[in-house]
Amino acid sequence: AISWQHPEEQLKYWQHDFSKPTLEEPMELFTDVMEKSVQVHRRKYLGHQTTPTLPVTVLSGALISLLNQGMGVYEMGMVGNTLEKILTEDLAQTLGYSAEASGFVTSGGSLGNLTALLAARAAVTKVWRKGYEEGLKPAVLVSDEAHYCIDRAARIMGFGDEGIIKVPVNDRFQLRTELLEEYYQKAVADGRQVICVVGCAGTTSTGSYDDLETIADFCKQYSIWFHVDGAHGAPAAFSTHYKYLVKGIEQADSVVVDYHKMMMTPSLSTALIFKRGSDAY
Ligand SMILES: *Cc1c(COP(=O)(O)O)cnc(C)c1O
Repeated sequence: AISWQHPEEQLKYWQHDFSKPTLEEPMELFTDVMEKSVQVHRRKYLGHQTTPTLPVTVLSGALISLLNQGMGVYEMGMVGNTLEKILTEDLAQTLGYSAEASGFVTSGGSLGNLTALLAARAAVTKVWRKGYEEGLKPAVLVSDEAHYCIDRAARIMGFGDEGIIKVPVNDRFQLRTELLEEYYQKAVADGRQVICVVGCAGTTSTGSYDDLETIADFCKQYSIWFHVDGAHGAPAAFSTHYKYLVKGIEQADSVVVDYHKMMMTPSLSTALIFKRGSDAY
């Protein structure tokens, strides 16, 4: 499923290809691109995180490219904007939310997690309107096993090294919830405002699910935003057999779910769901 090529060789190959006259017959180029890519559609492909896409999504991808609708303004993407609402609300129902929940689609889980943290910060600080006021030092509490994009999102938001507080995991790579209180109190003593706790519903390396119910209780106690990174694992909610893994997810203020991993759509496509739809604004 993969014929690996050194980056230097690959670069040379395509530089040469690029210098050739414009193709009138694109099939040669298409075949070449297919052969040099990872063959996720082949039987021998053993999944990393990106799955083979469902055949119908290949056709819808072509349709979308033809129509080329922007989504930034309603009238530029009337169908897409409407479907976005219906799809995310339907997913919210599957996760166990009430009718108040709603969301939107982002280009990937990394952007979804950043957007969720921005919403959390806007909800519990005045940063959105006033910027960083003297003495404000926001922080997030997150499992040591969380995806690197959470760390990066916090840095993008200006939290710095000390604003990402990593809580150790147990032997099943789940956040040790009994340590939350200690890490929280230490942050407060250091003058930090913990704005959010991030739970993992399927860690990237081991597929471990955090105890979401206990994290939800903790967040309620201190009025902290509870975000769940369910990029890979939240679709367990669709399975009668496995949905116990995401118990408590419906108590999260926000959840990220990648459509392009377990839900077999082309990448990147992610639902960001808010318990209170109005938080999306
Ligand atoms: C894949 C993944 C992400 C990042 O998602 P992208 O869609 O690749 O941006 C975030 N969190 C977890 C747990 C993931 O598995």
